Amino acid sequence: MMRRPALIATCLLGLLLPASRSRAAELPPAAPASLDTVPSPASYLGYAVGADRKLADWGEVTGYLSALARASDRVRMDTLGPTTLGRPYVLLTISSPRNLARLDELRTVQAKLADPRRISGPDERQRLLDEGRVVVLITAAIHSTEVGASQVPMRIAYRLASSDDPEVRRILDQCIVLLVPSLNPDGVDLVTHWYRSTLGKPWEGATPPFLYHHYVGHDDNRDWYAFTQQETRLAVGKVHNVWHPQIVHDIHQQGKFGSRFFLPPWMDPVEPNVDPALIAGINDLGTSMAWALERQGKKGVVVDATYDAWSPGRAYQHYHGGVRILSETASADLASPIEVTPDQLRAGVNFDPRKRSWNFPDPWPGGAWHLSDIVGYMEAGAFALLDHAAAHRRAWLESFLGIGQRAVAKWDRWPEAWVIPADQPRRDGLAELLRILLTADVEVGRATSSFSGAGRSFPSGSWVVDMHQPYASFAEAMLERQVYPDLRPCDSCPLRRPYDVTAWTLPLLLGVRAYRAEKPIGVAIEPVTAAPEVPREAPGLSGSAAVKVGLYQPWVPSMDEGWTRWIFDQYRIPYDTLHNADIKQGDLARRFTTILVPSIPPGVLETGFEPGSEPERYVGGLGEEGAAALGAFVEEGGTLVALERSTPWLIDRLHLPVRDLLGELTPTDYYAPGSIVRLDLDRSAGTDIGRSLPDTATIAWLGRGGAAFEARPEASPNAVRVVARYGTDPTLLSGWLQGARYVAGKAALVELPLGRGRIVLFGFRPQYRGESVATYPLLFDALRAGR
Ligand SMILES: [Zn+2]
Repeated sequence: MMRRPALIATCLLGLLLPASRSRAAELPPAAPASLDTVPSPASYLGYAVGADRKLADWGEVTGYLSALARASDRVRMDTLGPTTLGRPYVLLTISSPRNLARLDELRTVQAKLADPRRISGPDERQRLLDEGRVVVLITAAIHSTEVGASQVPMRIAYRLASSDDPEVRRILDQCIVLLVPSLNPDGVDLVTHWYRSTLGKPWEGATPPFLYHHYVGHDDNRDWYAFTQQETRLAVGKVHNVWHPQIVHDIHQQGKFGSRFFLPPWMDPVEPNVDPALIAGINDLGTSMAWALERQGKKGVVVDATYDAWSPGRAYQHYHGGVRILSETASADLASPIEVTPDQLRAGVNFDPRKRSWNFPDPWPGGAWHLSDIVGYMEAGAFALLDHAAAHRRAWLESFLGIGQRAVAKWDRWPEAWVIPADQPRRDGLAELLRILLTADVEVGRATSSFSGAGRSFPSGSWVVDMHQPYASFAEAMLERQVYPDLRPCDSCPLRRPYDVTAWTLPLLLGVRAYRAEKPIGVAIEPVTAAPEVPREAPGLSGSAAVKVGLYQPWVPSMDEGWTRWIFDQYRIPYDTLHNADIKQGDLARRFTTILVPSIPPGVLETGFEPGSEPERYVGGLGEEGAAALGAFVEEGGTLVALERSTPWLIDRLHLPVRDLLGELTPTDYYAPGSIVRLDLDRSAGTDIGRSLPDTATIAWLGRGGAAFEARPEASPNAVRVVARYGTDPTLLSGWLQGARYVAGKAALVELPLGRGRIVLFGFRPQYRGESVATYPLLFDALRAGR
């Protein structure tokens, strides 16, 4: 096929290039295949990638990459769509000119290997394994303060485009390298421009006082099964589902004082629907990369530490035939170098950075750590990965095919089908569930008549997920309840801390019923291509000026605040953002009916950034003055709603007649590392909150910051109205919960009348990561209560 010109080149070059960089811009669009004409990053930027205190912003990164694509017949560049804030989201496809010339054909080979039902027989199988290439997707810079990851793609792409080494030639012949230079382009600009503003100041290299993804900040890499954000949808819809990569390498950075570089094997547990060939492939590839770095004299590489592979929120590929190879390089102060003394090195989970061990054979002794070290480790890791892929092309393809064959044959642990009844009280949750399954390429059918199965009868139009299909593992992981294994070093020890949350069961989070059918269902089904469109509507709030909502935003970035904003925008709920000064100035009841304080740690609410650590306007918290203004707002008739971590601070500062029972417990007694528990509404409370929900039990997403309330003995009889309690039979519905008895039956949501207004305290997050649709009505009711 014809090589398409890089789409982005026309819009970026010329507009964004400074005059000094015009040489690269003037390269002809279809340059001859000479390696000499390929521009280096240094020739384009005027400095070497990795130079201290130098960061290219998104216009410069994409400007360079499009110049490279124009000059090289090994590289093509496409713009996949706009980001949340309208920047170009780009993909580089890098391979030999011969492979690039038959890209459509190779994509067809890959699609057949991904779905063995499409392979006609042994002859075609052999031909596909002979002709297929390993598809390697390298993604970088989803977390924008991990700045090496936003710069290193320029070096990776340049080396692939310019080198004549036999290793690089083999990579280009055997692999199709897909490079997404940033999974969050907006953040590259936000952080680069912030960093430049800090140069030479006391706070040089400090954390920016805003989320680096417009809505979700660091949570942008927890979105790989819910697909709520534009960037995730582009990567899944236009890269993963088009190319089905066998290997996905995601480039990150970690803290300053641990290992220099992490690679899988992952620690246990691995989620039970991940194919064993993926786990074995990850173990082989990760340790092979660690060995390659050791041969290059790179110290401080650890495997099998800190990170587990439980949550699919970070691992779309684990359910689509691909291994996930995360790398985590130690950080500096953004692009400013640091000096690490040996006594600053800190032990992590499963290793001690000062002791050698099987999984950490060559400790780094401490010393200077520069951006050049960061990008050096990252580049070495990426090329070790590509080298392994190229050397074992056939093994990767055979493994990939086997994963698809096992899925189509159906695993023993999976039912024959999942049935999602057509008659559901929550149409919004149903639409969301179907959107998620279809986005992940799960085949969903619709019954053309009523039928029986799973011990019940279902109406015509019910949805059916037949589990004999390539991505059944994704469906199973989303629909089943999570049983987190009891991992602890000794019987009386606390659970070994999971790296991430332990539960995500979508029917629970979305308020939808779904049933396992263990026997084949005898009903005709027709394929479904789109989820039903259900408008996102919060009655009385969407598009209405009747309720005037103020949303608190601390300067220490809060992801929970960002997710709340995302939901408000999705449901068209108008709001004003309130910073510390806006609240402290008081007179809030005149401007707002409701103020929402999302889940924020007490230290951030009280003191915020320390003096000298950030520019003066971002320093400090709400403190006594802010708390007093919030108290006055309620006294004058306002409704103050606080979520999860914020509740103990408000209880303390406003001397509320309740206490949080969970804050007093140790992790050995009580531990909820992101779990789904039952929630029972208390209809005797005499409040509006929860009135829009059916009378049946619902759920609460309970995380480490969760709270359970009890009225203080001295509280007057009607001072604390219990709206909902954590369930008792059972308490835990999915995930892990240590010490269920500490929450069972305790108040999870309370309303406290105060003066002419009221305070609503949520012990859980009703709007958890834009996923807990089941409990949105509780939040909306609480906001509306201010009317
Ligand atoms: Zn990261």
